[in-house]
Amino acid sequence: MTSTQQPRIAIVTGGGNGIGRATALKFAEAGYGVAVWDLAEQAAEEVVSAITAAGGVAIARKVDVSKPEDCVAGVAAVLERFGRIDVLINNAGVVRDGQLVKVKDGQVVGQMSADQFQFVLDVCLKGVFNCTQAVVPTMIAQKYGRIVSTSSVVALYGNFGQTNYVAAKAGVVGMTRVWARELGRYGITANAVAPGFIATDMVKSIPEKVYNALIEHTPVGRAGLPDDIARAYLFLADDKSSFINGAILSVDGGSVIGT
Ligand code: ADP
Repeated sequence: MTSTQQPRIAIVTGGGNGIGRATALKFAEAGYGVAVWDLAEQAAEEVVSAITAAGGVAIARKVDVSKPEDCVAGVAAVLERFGRIDVLINNAGVVRDGQLVKVKDGQVVGQMSADQFQFVLDVCLKGVFNCTQAVVPTMIAQKYGRIVSTSSVVALYGNFGQTNYVAAKAGVVGMTRVWARELGRYGITANAVAPGFIATDMVKSIPEKVYNALIEHTPVGRAGLPDDIARAYLFLADDKSSFINGAILSVDGGSVIGT
C-alpha cells in the first residue's frame, strides 16, 4: 500500500452504511488506519467494531459534514490519534426526491421545496467542500494527499425528480476539477467516482419494474455492489495513482454508454 513505514490514514465520510461502510472495511483490510465519520454515530461505531474484530485499526466519530466546525473538529481528532491524514473519501450523501413542478391532470399539485433543495445541497455539495477544506492544510504540510469524492452518473445525464441531487453531484465534478488544478503541485490529487445503479438502502424503494429496466440498461446485466465502488476509491487513493488527477471515473457496468 505504502512505501513508507507508517500506515496511510483514510477518512471515510458516511462510513456507517452502504457504500461508505464497504469502503471503510476495504481500506482497513488494505492496511489503512481508518476514521469512520457519520451522522449516525452508532452505525460508525459498529463499523469500527467490525474493523477492530478483523485486526484493523479505526476510530469512529459523529460528524455532520454540512457543518464546517464538525469537520474541523473531526480532523483534529484524527490528527490526535494518527498524526496524519492521507486520504479523504467524500462519500456521505442523502436524497430528497421531488419534481421541480409536479403536475396532475393538467394542474400543478406540488413542487420541490426550497428546503428540500437546500438540504441535499448542504450534505452532498457543501459537505464535500467542508471536509476537503478541513483536511487540505494537513495534506499540504505533508506534501501528500488523495481526495476522492462521490459524484454520480446522474451528474452527467440528469435524473427524473432529482434537481437537488443532480445539482450537487454535478457540482462535485466541478469542484474536483478545480481542486485537481489548485492542489496538484502539493502532491495532492483530487478525483471523483461516478457510481451508476448500486444496490444499497437508497434504492430499496425503487419499484420492481423500474429496477428491472435499470438492469436491462446495464451492459454487464447486474446492479452494482457497494464493494464495486469501494474498489474504485481504493484504486484512486493508492500511492501509485499519483498521475490520475481531475478524473471522473464512472463505475456503472457500462450503463451510461447507451444513455
Ligand atoms: P449509499 O447508498 O450512498 O451508501 P447510504 O444512505 O447507505 O447511501 O449511506 C449514506 C451515509 O451517509 C449514511 O451512513 C448516512 O448516515 C450518512 N450521512 C447522511 N447525512 C450525513 C451528514 N450530514 N454527515 C455525515 N454523514 C451523513
